[in-house]
Formats: sequence, structure tokens, C-alpha cells
Amino acid sequence: MRRVTLGVLLMAATAAQAADLPFAAERIAWNKPLKPFHVIGNIYYVGPAGVSSFLIVTPKGDILTDGALPESAPLIEKNIRALGFKLSDVKIILNSHAHFDHSGGLARLKRDTGASLYAGTPDVPVLESGHIAFGPAARVDAPPVHVDHPVQDGETVSLGGVTLTAHITPGHTQGCTTWTYEVPPPAFAGSRAGYAHLPRIAGEEHPLTVMFFCSISVAGNPLVGNAAYPNIVSDYRASFARLAKMKADIFFAPHGVQFGLAAKLAKMKTGAPNPFVDPAEKDRFLAAARADFDKELAKETARQQAAAKP
Ligand SMILES: [Zn+2]
Repeated sequence: MRRVTLGVLLMAATAAQAADLPFAAERIAWNKPLKPFHVIGNIYYVGPAGVSSFLIVTPKGDILTDGALPESAPLIEKNIRALGFKLSDVKIILNSHAHFDHSGGLARLKRDTGASLYAGTPDVPVLESGHIAFGPAARVDAPPVHVDHPVQDGETVSLGGVTLTAHITPGHTQGCTTWTYEVPPPAFAGSRAGYAHLPRIAGEEHPLTVMFFCSISVAGNPLVGNAAYPNIVSDYRASFARLAKMKADIFFAPHGVQFGLAAKLAKMKTGAPNPFVDPAEKDRFLAAARADFDKELAKETARQQAAAKP
């Protein structure tokens, strides 16, 4: 029997029917349309309001980050076109992690653009089957998608003078991948039509490090006795330590609420210095995420100890 994805169901279901599906309310909120906009340098926001997708343009074609939900793919495509870019110019798609709200749209986006998909190697079986074995996301399968380039930690992906580096920061998923790169890239002189006047960052003489952060939230992942991911706690801890040492002048995350998208966009319209440049934001975010992780782990450990008592 052909598997019907939740995205298709949601589009067909009435609001009352949809309320019974897992993550139904969240999906509707996440997928709220947002007018695409220029963020900084050669980076544009093309996702819906609650689940991120960025377009990085280069003279040799474009790089898209994440596919958001299955039902987000048509919105992302519309947004790319609305900015004057072509779907067929998207050559590379990068995935942050294999959860349906960031990988769900990948299959359609890959089909419609012809781009190659890059993702953290440990997440490849999840992307290619559409199913993750643990956590609340296990209740929602994503359309399976073939990963053309499974990436290892430290691997780089280059296109048109832009080079992104993959940092495998596992915990949230096993192949959770944080991508970084520096803007502005080398001059785009002689670039193809429409790409000649990429804005520079006013007042910034040095390149800025952009972080497309994967995620490190617990998000209901079982931390104690997780048979599908036995070393989940040590992976989270190692990722916290590693991310703390990394530089991020601009911090982007898979959900708008994680990096203050709405507030920054509003601030941008006032003509203030680009609010997306905030070198302290990553560490503030990590401190809060770390506190949440410690709390969840203590809770689960206490629960397990109570259950183990005779
Ligand atoms: Zn996730």
C-alpha cells in the first residue's frame, strides 16, 4: 500500500481532523507563510515563519539549507522564485538533521531543483527511510530522500567561492550537523546576471562567521535507557563542549524562535544595524539549552531510580 505522508493528510484534512494528528497544531504554526527577505551578505531567508530554510547565492549556483516540513516545500519554492532566483540554480541542499520538520520537504525540493543533498553520515539511514527510531519525531515519518553526499565531521562543501564546513554535533539526532561559513565571500565581480550587486556588510571589515546551528534541544528524546541511541548523553555533552568553543557572529537555527527571527526582522525594518549580527547570541542560547538539558537528565535519572527501587 502506498504510504500517505502526514503532509498530504494535513493538506486534505479539516482543522478538526488535523487536530488528531501528531504535531498538527505545531505544523500549522511552523508553516505560516513568511515573505522571503535578504538577511545579510549573500544569504536570504526562504523558509516559512517557524521552520528555517536559507538560500546562499553564489555566481555558480545556489545552496539551500533544510527542507522544513513536507508541506513547506511549495512555499520555499515560491519564495525562491519571488526573490528572482531560479529553482534550477539550486545546486546543493544541506540538511541540519533528520527530523520531519527540517527534512520533510527535502525530497520534493531535490526533485524540483535537481540539487545534490548533503547530510551528516549518521543521519543518512533516517533520511533514506524517512523514519527515526527514538523521540517524539518517531511518530511522524518524512518522505524518504536519497542522500547524494553523506558528510563526515570537518568535511567542506564548496560552490562559487563559498565554502561551508560540516561540524557533526550529535545528540538531538545522531547525525545532527552544524554548518559554518564566512561572509562576505570573495568579491562576486563578473558574476552571472542578477548576482552582481550583493550587499556588503556595512562597517564590517573582517569576515563574519555564520553558523547554521543544527539543534541541541532534548525535545522529548529519551536520555536514559535509549536503546536506539545508547550514547546519547555523552554525545550531547561533547556537542555542548564543542559548540562552546566555536565562533558565531551570526547565529541561525532550525526554528525561528531559537534565533529571534520575528523580532530581528521587525528591527531590520527600522533601519537599525543588522540585528542578525550578534557574536554573543550563540553562547546565550547554549547556556539556556545546557540548563534545560541538565534539568531533563536529572528528571529522567530520578524517575529511573524511583522505578528501580524494590
Ligand atoms: Zn529536531
